[in-house]
Amino acid sequence: MERCMDCNSLLTREEIVCIECGTKVGGDERGVASFGATLVSLLFYASIAALVTSPFLDKGPGVMFCLMISCALLFIMRTAKDNAEKLKKR
Ligand SMILES: [Zn+2]
Repeated sequence: MERCMDCNSLLTREEIVCIECGTKVGGDERGVASFGATLVSLLFYASIAALVTSPFLDKGPGVMFCLMISCALLFIMRTAKDNAEKLKKR
């Protein structure tokens, strides 16, 4: 359950605009956060794929480089998820 920040009336999860006073209930912000999280996880899987295939390729990024990128993306992914959770709780 969520509450309107303006008039404190109860809202369902699907409601983006408060039915009582018409205030927007952080729908856009949450959408951007989940889009970013999806994008980062896609990049993460791409870097994992690159990590797995890089030893078999003559050209392309090295294993260490791929490993570094994967770790960095994993970190970003966790941070993005934490942010999304915080937005949901509000
Ligand atoms: Zn309201």
